[in-house]
Amino acid sequence: MEYKFQKPVHGTIGTTKYQCVIEWRNGQFIADEPEKNGGKDTGPDPYTLLLSSLATCTLITLRMYIDRKGWNIAEIKVNVNLFQTKDGDNTTTFIDRDITFPAGVEPEQKNRLLEIAAQCPVSKMLEGNIKVRSYVYHEEDVDKKLKYTNGDITVVWKPELCKHSGRCVTQLPKVFNLKTKPWVTMTGADSETIKLQVERCPTGALSWIPADKDE
Ligand code: SF4
Repeated sequence: MEYKFQKPVHGTIGTTKYQCVIEWRNGQFIADEPEKNGGKDTGPDPYTLLLSSLATCTLITLRMYIDRKGWNIAEIKVNVNLFQTKDGDNTTTFIDRDITFPAGVEPEQKNRLLEIAAQCPVSKMLEGNIKVRSYVYHEEDVDKKLKYTNGDITVVWKPELCKHSGRCVTQLPKVFNLKTKPWVTMTGADSETIKLQVERCPTGALSWIPADKDE
């Protein structure tokens, strides 16, 4: 099992209602709630973010397909919205996606593009099986660290952040091996190889520091 992102999307909320700072791999943005829900509408709300994900995935997938085919379609537009119905404890969510192409796009092309839109990765994910797994951490747990050194670099492992995704174990078993004690063998590879692997830990459980900076 491998996470999609080397670094997870990170979110923080303080006491300002309900402004969240979302950090992604190349920057950050604000999310909020509309005023009617007690927020200040300074950024997209959670439902908008979800729909934006589908809208962008649809547009990017269509653009890739159109470019590969060499079709002359300058612009694609999409509207995405949702409504929900309740039946007792069951909530069903309907997401409607309306795609608009400029005049001149043939009906067969539109039909094919509709099929391609339905195959975009976020569509497939939303229509497939989704399980949200939640884990709880305390700041003090996150501070727990175990260290392993080869005299050149020191690998720091925070057990509470390790989701046991197995990436390090499968990709560099000579160093990361759950059957050995300790589970990190710093003589199993050179420092550069270990550093590269450590930087691929998806949860931040692994990090490294130069050994001479280790207190
Ligand atoms: S340390 Fe990181 S890469 Fe290794 S198993 Fe834990 S989460 Fe996965």
